Amino acid sequence: MRKRGYFGIFGGQFVPELLMPALLELEQAYEKYINDVQFKRELSYLFKNYAGRPTPIYYAKNFTRIAGGARILLKREDLNHTGSHKLNNCLGQALLAKNMGKKRIIAETGAGQHGVATATACALLGLECHVYMGKEDTIRQELNVFRMKMLGTEVIPVESGTQTLKDAINEAMRDWVTTVKTTHYIIGSVVGPHPFPIMVRNFQSIIGQEALQQLPEYGIDIPDYIIACVGGGSNAMGIFHPFVDTKARLIGVEAGGRGANVGDHSSSLGRGEQGVFHGKRSYFLQNEYGQISPAHSIAAGLDYPGVGPEHAYYKETGRAQYVSITDEEAIYAYKKLAREEGIIPALESAHALAYALKLAPTIPESQTILINLSGRGDKDIITTKIN
Ligand SMILES: *Cc1c(COP(=O)(O)O)cnc(C)c1O
Repeated sequence: MRKRGYFGIFGGQFVPELLMPALLELEQAYEKYINDVQFKRELSYLFKNYAGRPTPIYYAKNFTRIAGGARILLKREDLNHTGSHKLNNCLGQALLAKNMGKKRIIAETGAGQHGVATATACALLGLECHVYMGKEDTIRQELNVFRMKMLGTEVIPVESGTQTLKDAINEAMRDWVTTVKTTHYIIGSVVGPHPFPIMVRNFQSIIGQEALQQLPEYGIDIPDYIIACVGGGSNAMGIFHPFVDTKARLIGVEAGGRGANVGDHSSSLGRGEQGVFHGKRSYFLQNEYGQISPAHSIAAGLDYPGVGPEHAYYKETGRAQYVSITDEEAIYAYKKLAREEGIIPALESAHALAYALKLAPTIPESQTILINLSGRGDKDIITTKIN
């Protein structure tokens, strides 16, 4: 029998006892509201009239020509309000928290995209919001710090450890242990203890559900390949999940960074090992003592030393394939999409585009690749200019 909150051997709830009541309360509330007609109606209203969903699927003709092979379609999450898929999850969780009577929200953020999406949902729903962000990241992503403050959120710089995302998560967890009665922690990806991986995946599954409705416009029901970048894995899980029982081949693209050395990449599935961290069993970058190793990617949103447990399970079972793309390859694809299609993609999404450039010429022109374009790249202009 499958244990609750597990995907095979991955997942679980590896948290201090103090947090267990909060996780149980959250799980019960989630199960209640996700089947509640009023909740569902309100969330779909916000998706449609606030966030701008459904996001279109666009046939990237010029990019297809450059790649030279299979037809490439883009699911345009870059057109979602605030510029990425992140808001899908934040609207869902913030609405859930409000229904649970929680008035205070905390979140962690790396690049600031999840922080901005959380701050947005909290402004909309009248919730108090505090975002933990590594000090290093507050400097690298200054614009997003301004956006969060403009939205009425307190940004708390974290000075421990590497002063990046994993340290921000540690601080948010520390906060939550002492504030669980009044506070909900909006985790930004399919990571953390159960029920977060399932809950975040289900809120993000709107991406794949829409795609199923939209693909017939292009003469197909199921694409031959679906490609998405993988940081924690939420945009990938969001587009993969509704296709899991179909013949579509699922490919997750991790950050290969500058190369294979420790500290140069974020390929948790490709080069990491199994372990337990941030509440779950999954794959992590770690040293021989099981201590977490530093991650690197040119794309700040991929710069996390772990991955969601459901991806670990898909890797083990072979349902999805995981590959990596280097910083350099991602920048090439970033520039190509901008020049050929007039769409500046997020550097994260550019990892998926770069893999499509490799794959397309090796498969027949009659086949279709659906890429999840997880976000827009305005935030990355400075980074790519320097490089
Ligand atoms: C945060 C982010 C990602 C990575 O997060 P996942 O949970 O792996 O989706 C990818 N793309 C964009 C645009 C992001 O903001």
